[in-house]
Amino acid sequence: MTALLSVKNLQRHFSVEGNKEWLSGKKVLRAVDGVTLSVERGKTLGIVGESGCGKSTMAKLVLGLIPATAGTVEFDGKPVTANRNQAWRAARRHMQMVYQDPLSALDRRLTALAQVTEPLNIHDKHGETHPTLAAQSMMRAVGLTDNLFQRYPHELSGGQRQRVVLARALVLKPSLLVCDEPISALDVSVQAQVINLLTDLRQQMNLTMLFISHDLRVVRHICDEVAVMYLGRIIEQGSAKNVLSHPAHPYTRALISAVSTPGAKHATLNAGRIILKGEPPNPVDVPTGCSFHPRCALATAHCKTNAPVTTRIGEAHTVSCHLHTMIHHGSGS
Ligand code: SF4
Repeated sequence: MTALLSVKNLQRHFSVEGNKEWLSGKKVLRAVDGVTLSVERGKTLGIVGESGCGKSTMAKLVLGLIPATAGTVEFDGKPVTANRNQAWRAARRHMQMVYQDPLSALDRRLTALAQVTEPLNIHDKHGETHPTLAAQSMMRAVGLTDNLFQRYPHELSGGQRQRVVLARALVLKPSLLVCDEPISALDVSVQAQVINLLTDLRQQMNLTMLFISHDLRVVRHICDEVAVMYLGRIIEQGSAKNVLSHPAHPYTRALISAVSTPGAKHATLNAGRIILKGEPPNPVDVPTGCSFHPRCALATAHCKTNAPVTTRIGEAHTVSCHLHTMIHHGSGS
């Protein structure tokens, strides 16, 4: 299998007090700090972590919406940069995004049908099917009925709006769909509908997906692979089965414990909720050694001064933790 998306040592640093500070190397926010990952065709990679861990910045970097500080992104073997040139526009039609808040993602002045037709008018003027007919067909495929086509965003429910966003993203038949918390702004009652729709569409259209979420229940349902981010870095990565059944990083274990249900096979070592200490540290002032150590119940003096390296612990499983052997074996693998 070849990777459709390949990211190597990707970094995005922001200056928090202007260019002078940036140049002097002070006050740098490392939103994404050396991420390497790849997604094979037809697979879904989930990126999980708390708010502010760098997930959404990753999405923007992958799509070339913002420039990287260092590192590379390749889509279908070609580099993706933030230069808005012809190559970028050609790649973008094959890489689409579904945003968290459908209302702000849509143009309030356009009907649902006009929003879905718009990408075809821009990118596919000479397509085989008339743009309006192609848009209507995709809208029906995502479960929108004909009576909704001429409605404006404020006349639609949250679930209907997200279906319009999905239809607009898929109408160009992209290879890669980047979903940034696609259900977190929806009512709980419609979240499952949208996830089931995404699952069906992924199979029907052979989509490759980058699925960004803080909700591990959804990630477990839809993703083949999982990457866990903390303070701009991936601290555990592997097949969803391995990572969620046998987590080897204390942070992953804590995230899983927060959603575990009684009797679930992937419950924690102690089959109980692990409460993380405090909030994530200020990303401008990342702790020394293992950046997770201020919140880690297992931290040792060694952890406070020595950053763990990424270690392969299985065929499709890597982790960055000094105590991974003890934790991984304790989790039942
Ligand atoms: Fe905790 Fe130490 Fe592992 Fe970091 S390296 S997660 S502080 S045990």
